Amino acid sequence: MLPSSFEYVAPTSVDEAVQALAAGGGDAKVMAGGQSLLPMMKLRLASPSLIVDINNIAGLDTLEESDGMLRIGALVRHGELERSELIRDRYPIILDAAQHIADPLIRNRGTFCGSVAHGDPAGDWATVATALGAELHAVGPNGAVVHSATDFQTSMFETKLGADQILVEARIPMPKPGQGSAYKKIERKVGDYAAAAVGVSIVLDGMTITEAAIGLTNVGPLTINAADAAASLIGKSIDDAEAIEQAGVLAAAASDPASDLRGPADYKRDLVRVLTKRALRTAGARAQGKEA
Ligand SMILES: Cc1cc2nc3c(=O)[nH]c(=O)nc-3n(C[C@H](O)[C@H](O)[C@H](O)COP(=O)(O)OP(=O)(O)OC[C@H]3O[C@@H](n4cnc5c(N)ncnc54)[C@H](O)[C@@H]3O)c2cc1C
Repeated sequence: MLPSSFEYVAPTSVDEAVQALAAGGGDAKVMAGGQSLLPMMKLRLASPSLIVDINNIAGLDTLEESDGMLRIGALVRHGELERSELIRDRYPIILDAAQHIADPLIRNRGTFCGSVAHGDPAGDWATVATALGAELHAVGPNGAVVHSATDFQTSMFETKLGADQILVEARIPMPKPGQGSAYKKIERKVGDYAAAAVGVSIVLDGMTITEAAIGLTNVGPLTINAADAAASLIGKSIDDAEAIEQAGVLAAAASDPASDLRGPADYKRDLVRVLTKRALRTAGARAQGKEA
């Protein structure tokens, strides 16, 4: 199917892009990788009157650590995260997720920030951003705005990002000593969205868990921050099988999946329990330097 007709601009600065968005009214859309926007336009699920293509804006492709944060610019593609040595060495949860998003063609175009901005509860990056406590830096007509990834989605395909704001960068705190993270995803077939997925980040002091965060993908209308499951781990040993099981049970209780072609709700809820345990074990091993 063909999309309905639209105007197109490709500004070369963030300021110009913000002005174009504001001039385009509420239904103008930013385009980054186009890997969600264009399919939605072809299916007529979205019919923006104006596309603001940000691909010609210099400086949005930053992928580096500075000032204690990993900076992921708006034009950093899934594939760049998958191939980055920095990510491979320091952010295993990001590598885990990047390797299982869609297929290589989509990974070469789609962006981390575009995925988060899209507000799809099936998006893998919003869960990773939640588990890692990411800050989402946006720019709008009134200047810079920082959103927290944890409560960024407000409903399905809706976020706190204003229609006139551009997400320019995600910033993720650099790993602390004793930190480990992992992303576990079950997909019906290669290249599909998750039937369920779980992202975990923990910090260990010796064997004791001192910090924890758990995010859930595609098991509810929003990306889920399983805060009770994470809180239940604080002060527990990473070797405490009962504590790990309990966190899995609480994460499953926080999920709210629907039965669909990826499986019945009960199956997905149990997947959350099992994947939480697996992710915690892998994150624990990584925190102790036992596993890449
Ligand atoms: C067949 C298929 C399989 C897929 N499988 C997966 C999967 O397994 N896991 C997964 O997570 N994703 C999957 N995706 C989605 C893919 O990851 C997209 O790349 C991603 O969701 C959107 O990123 P994008 O850069 O392509 O954004 P675009 O398509 O350009 O934009 C998506 C939305 O976000 C907005 N937007 C984009 N960038 C910005 C910005 N910087 N500031 C403000 N608004 C912005 C756009 O206006 C639009 O509303 C799949 C897509 C397809 C087509």
